[in-house]
Amino acid sequence: MATVSLKDVKKTFGKTDVIHGIDIDIKDGEFIVIVGPSGCGKSTLLRMVAGLETVTSGAVHIDGARVNDLEPMDRDIAMVFQNYALYPHMSVFDNMAYGLKIAGTPKSEIAQRVDTAAKLLQLEPYLTRRPRELSGGQRQRVAMGRAIVRKPSVFLFDEPLSNLDAKLRVQMRLEIKQLQRRLGVTSLYVTHDQVEAMTLADRMIVMNGGVADQIGAPLEVYANPATEFVAGFIGSPP
Ligand code: ADP
Ligand code: MG
Repeated sequence: MATVSLKDVKKTFGKTDVIHGIDIDIKDGEFIVIVGPSGCGKSTLLRMVAGLETVTSGAVHIDGARVNDLEPMDRDIAMVFQNYALYPHMSVFDNMAYGLKIAGTPKSEIAQRVDTAAKLLQLEPYLTRRPRELSGGQRQRVAMGRAIVRKPSVFLFDEPLSNLDAKLRVQMRLEIKQLQRRLGVTSLYVTHDQVEAMTLADRMIVMNGGVADQIGAPLEVYANPATEFVAGFIGSPP
């Protein structure tokens, strides 16, 4: 587990300011949702925490240590993307084990960790299958399994459910919530879906054109929107 802190984090691409200065201290085990319309900078913010984008100015700290100059693999994080890109020729077991193999984790430990994750995600019956033999929801669980087996201190999610149909999305949302309750890992979760944000978040960051218009618990944001933009965005149908 870990804290994450962003101090006046900014991002510029060329001459375009994409992130204007975000400040937040995320507590150990907190589930933070970054929500806002397409193009507002959600992925860019998350990618700076992951180390996939450099920070133009400001600082990112994970568990008190400044990580601005650390490569993604040297940060204690695991990321789940929208396009979960499983290896098609590998079994579910091997997909989940791959990162650990690369890291040189002993075989018995890999087996044990994959087993535990498979139980947690109800994937035990599918460990020998290939990704094409799975449903969309099962594939998404494998992608989460890959992150879980690494036992990171921080989970980063970028719209992990947006490729799923509406019914499955609601079901997976509940599963992620339960998983969070059981694992309690500090998480940053990006979505453009305000209902998803309201359901999952301990606190949400409502982004508007590279600015955090409001940071607060869902009910607080809902009851007391800080700006007209927040009121319109949270109040509009998904
Ligand atoms: P979101 O995830 O909220 O949809 P993004 O973080 O992907 O938004 O993008 C925010 C803005 O930054 C967009 O205007 C996008 O075009 C721009 N942007 C993202 N990545 C790059 C890049 N590598 N180079 C230039 N502009 C980028
Ligand atoms: Mg995005």
